[in-house]
Amino acid sequence: MSAPFWQTKSLNEMTDAEWESLCDGCARCCVEKLEDEDTGEVVFSNEACGLLNIHSCRCRAYQSRQMYVPACIRITPEFLEDDQKRGWLPPSCAYRRIAEGQPLEDWHPLISGDPNSVHDAAISMKGWLIQPNKIEL
Ligand code: SF4
Ligand code: SF4
Repeated sequence: MSAPFWQTKSLNEMTDAEWESLCDGCARCCVEKLEDEDTGEVVFSNEACGLLNIHSCRCRAYQSRQMYVPACIRITPEFLEDDQKRGWLPPSCAYRRIAEGQPLEDWHPLISGDPNSVHDAAISMKGWLIQPNKIEL
């Protein structure tokens, strides 16, 4: 059996579909964050972005999200090369892990074959989120 794409391709070589499939659906990047200006330490809150479906942990308008949330950051290989910006993603994030030479965890849907495994492993924000500023579509 041949090795999976995330082990054989660089982030730059992945197709759009491969790239998108790396997202485990944890929603840990879809919460308000605070960054210490001096130390660079990033603290994640449990306040969800107004566009997130807090039950499924998926963006409700992913393709047009920047129309509703201009500050939503598009993760790219170039973004991941920047140490500070990469730190805005949680250590569990597949994009960050691969950029840092780490393997995917067993609970990642690409490994488990189950999109719910990220929730079952308590990695996702499911059940923890509040959403005071929900955006109506
Ligand atoms: S932290 Fe990474 S894996 Fe989790 S939702 Fe965000 S981009 Fe996807
Ligand atoms: S716009 Fe969508 S992808 Fe961006 S932070 Fe909000 S919920 Fe997440």
